[in-house]
Amino acid sequence: MHDTGQPLIEARALAVGYGAQPVVHDLDLEVRPGEVVALLGANGAGKTTTLRALSGDLTPMDGEVRWLGEAARAPLHRRARQGLAYVGERTVFTRLHTEDNLRVGRVATEQALHLFPELEKRLKTGAGMLSGGEQQMLSLARALCRAPKLLLADELSLGLAPLVVDRLLRAVREAADRGLGALLVEQHVRKVLDIADRVYVLQRGRITMAGTPKDLRGNLDAIESSYLAAKATAEKTTYATD
Ligand code: ATP
Repeated sequence: MHDTGQPLIEARALAVGYGAQPVVHDLDLEVRPGEVVALLGANGAGKTTTLRALSGDLTPMDGEVRWLGEAARAPLHRRARQGLAYVGERTVFTRLHTEDNLRVGRVATEQALHLFPELEKRLKTGAGMLSGGEQQMLSLARALCRAPKLLLADELSLGLAPLVVDRLLRAVREAADRGLGALLVEQHVRKVLDIADRVYVLQRGRITMAGTPKDLRGNLDAIESSYLAAKATAEKTTYATD
């Protein structure tokens, strides 16, 4: 499904960062209902910072974020109530059983099992004891079963086996086919391009390529090698955390 309505979320000339220093500059981006959009870029390019600004967790330094057609100033929890779901790395309560994680997330067990039948035998298991893939299925079930309008997902498949990555991305694709808009930050470039409708490539805080996966296929090697080069640099870098 493509381009079926007005954008759910838009960034217009967005600058955002930490302290006085923007790390993302002059960024234009949008996600519409029914489309999966991939945001690709090397470590430190500004992908997480962009998602945090879109979700309302970071305040723009310049430009604006528009959510559901209006300039968005509401914080994350308000946008969440209006249908914005954010999934980061392993967003589960590790001390609670799988089933209790669903209950706390106000998600019906049946609905979650419809999405990920794999979780059935793990309902009474503490979420901390689940495999990485099962934890992400649980995170995604908690997000998708509440029928959000927009999913922002940061490295959904970080460190997971290829088959599990396929499984998670397929669930997102199917939800988008039913009308969800999704913006995915992914390290698995080729896999995400298989399910994405559009792609943005971010380099050093700026969008340097945008288009359909087909447009970008000719540049895949360049995109992937920029990831690898930056990974080597990142190993020598100590990141500040908040
Ligand atoms: P990665 O794939 O490594 O997560 P990314 O593309 O998501 O990378 P960001 O996490 O958005 O990149 O980081 C962009 C820049 O902002 C980096 O230089 C990083 O060091 C810096 N940065 C990230 N978080 C903070 C923070 N809380 N305080 C200060 N600087 C930060």
